[in-house]
Parts: sequence; C-alpha cells; structure tokens
Amino acid sequence: MTPKPSELVLPPDLIPSDGRFGSGPSKVRAEAVAALVDAAPGYLGTSHRRDGVRSVVRRVREGISALFQLPDGYEVLLSNGGTTVFWDSAAFGLIETRSQHLVFGEFSSKFASVTRNAPHLEEPEVIETGPSTHPLPHASAAVDAYCFPHNETSTGVMLDPRRPEGATPDQLVLVDATSGAGGLRFDPAQTDVYYFAPQKCFGGDGGLWLAACSPAAIGRIERIGASGRWVPPSLDLAIALEQSRLEQTYNTPALATVFLLAHQIEWMLHEGGIEWCASRCDRSAEILYGWAEASSFATPFVEKPDERSHVTATIDFDEAVDAPALARALRANGIVDTEPYRKLGRNQLRVGIFPAVEPEDVATLTHAIDWLVERLG
Ligand SMILES: *Cc1c(COP(=O)(O)O)cnc(C)c1O
Repeated sequence: MTPKPSELVLPPDLIPSDGRFGSGPSKVRAEAVAALVDAAPGYLGTSHRRDGVRSVVRRVREGISALFQLPDGYEVLLSNGGTTVFWDSAAFGLIETRSQHLVFGEFSSKFASVTRNAPHLEEPEVIETGPSTHPLPHASAAVDAYCFPHNETSTGVMLDPRRPEGATPDQLVLVDATSGAGGLRFDPAQTDVYYFAPQKCFGGDGGLWLAACSPAAIGRIERIGASGRWVPPSLDLAIALEQSRLEQTYNTPALATVFLLAHQIEWMLHEGGIEWCASRCDRSAEILYGWAEASSFATPFVEKPDERSHVTATIDFDEAVDAPALARALRANGIVDTEPYRKLGRNQLRVGIFPAVEPEDVATLTHAIDWLVERLG
C-alpha cells in the first residue's frame, strides 16, 4: 500500500538547512531578522519623517543604484502597495495613451488588463504566447510604452529586457522585475522603468514597490503630473517622485519592510553585487534543471534552456507522479511552498531559487524529491 504523503518522514540528511522555497514571499535570511531585532528599540515605532528612518530609505535608494549600476540621471522611486499598486500608478502616471504588452502568464496578463480597463487609455496592443515561452516586443508607432516582465513568476519563463529595435527615445520600456530584480543580470540602459517589490529576490516582506526610472521616465512622470489628468494622490507618481527625493514615502510605510530591504541590498553588495547574486541563481538553476533533465520522471516545463528562469524554476512531472502529493509530503517535512502557480494547472512543482536560497539546499531538495517519489509510488 502507498503511504500517505504526510506520513513520509525524510531522513535528516535529506532535509535542507532552510525549507523555504516559495516564489514570493520567499526565504527571509535569519541574519536580517536578527539585525532588525537589534535595531528595533531605536527604529521600529519612530517617525518615518525623521532621520532614523529616512537614513534607511536613503540606504535603500543608494543601494539599489549601486547594485544595478544605474546610469547617470536614473532615480529610484518607492511607495506603498507592492507591484500590483504600481501597475495602477503606471496606468495613471507613465502611460500617455497606449501601451504594448507581452503576455505569457498570470502577472504579465494582469498588467495588460489594468491598461485595457483604464478609461483614459486606448486599447493596448497585446502580443501573447502560451505559458512555456515568451513573445518579443516589436516597435510600434501607435504606443508610448512597452511593458513586459523580466521573469514571469507564474510560469518560470525569463527574458532579456531590451528596447525593441526601431523604438523611438520617447517610447518608454517598463519592466516588471518583481521576481527578476536582484537575481538576474540586465542592462539598465535598455529599460526606462525597472520596477519590483522586496518579497522575491530581496528576501524581505511585501507591500512596497520600487522603481528605477530613467530621465525619460522622470520626464514622462513630470509631464503627466502637470497635464491636469486626474490621479488619486496615493497612486500619483509625481508625488512619489517628490517624496522619494526626500527619502520618504507619501504615507507611512512598514518600517520593518524598509529595514529588511536595506539589509538585504547591503548583503548583496557586500557579497559581490548582481554578478554574485546572479551566479548563485545560475548555480541553483543548473542543479535543478540538470537534475530534471537527467531524471526519468521530471522535465523542465520551459523547453528552451535560455528561457528557463534562474529565479523561479518550474518542473513538470510524469503522470505516474502525483505532484500535489509530492508537494504535500515535502510540506509535511518542513519544505514549503513548492506548489505550482494554481491557474497554470500543471502536474508541476515550482521552486524559488532566489539569491538567499543556498544552492546546496537546492541539491538536497532534488535528493528529497527522488526519495519521496520512490516511496509515493
Ligand atoms: C509577485 C509578482 C507580482 C505581484 O507583486 P505584489 O507585490 O504582490 O503586487 C507582479 N509581477 C511579478 C512578475 C511578480 O513576480
């Protein structure tokens, strides 16, 4: 008789040092939490308009500029609400009349539906493929913004963010880097707005958005801000710009979130910056996809190797393997959040392999899966 998934107890050497493999919220490093506890008495519960907190916001903004090696004139904006709220802000404050969207999964499709439903914008151009690959943007005189994700977290497909050939300098490239930022290499000069939230590669908590903006993007924000278009103040990027320059947010942020983010950015910089982070993610990806390719029952969901995400890996399983039962068995052993994106509806596991995750733990995870599959029958 096959045992129940929740009754299978992994041998101790098949338990990773940290069992958090979620694609967001993702593993928060114990060192960051300890640093927050140490700083708490003089930090938590103090005014976000005073130096104590504003200096941490400054560390975040300067740290992001250094981490991404932003070109001159690029500025880091931040405000409350996470990426989903940033989409609404972008529809108000960055897109003038019409946008083009690449859609190849849940998150890219959500942003396209925001602009489709915005009454002040024209019907967006949407270029779509199935979820196991990605389309490419193409220059279009009808649009003023090109929108696509760096990494489609729902499917584990990544792309290299580039301006479409033939795009004009007044057309903006808006990249949803929520899960890619901090773990994947990119050329900031190919982007005008590279936006993200801290709960993926930055191993922090959600609820905040950040956006690295080019001078062209800043110009667009200022122009729309002065145009008389009605914008709810909490979504107004002109206000976010003004507040960010003062090292604060328009309304009160979660101070713990800001602290954890600053700590993680400085950890990344200290270890060697984006190149170090991306190399670590490359290593985890190689372990996981290499294992799946060699396995008799698992295969990478994404066919083309260069489109396989190095931050959120998706692995399909043969019909003979019950992937939901496997995820339950892992969970019962403290290895959590390997379930796939629900709406994708695949017999799959999805593994967050962000910079905070130890590649060694990824290797242990593959051995744990082998062990469980053998016993689940
Ligand atoms: C997680 C994620 C989002 C949503 O982020 P929230 O901060 O929860 O709104 C959007 N886009 C991508 C690519 C993501 O990975």
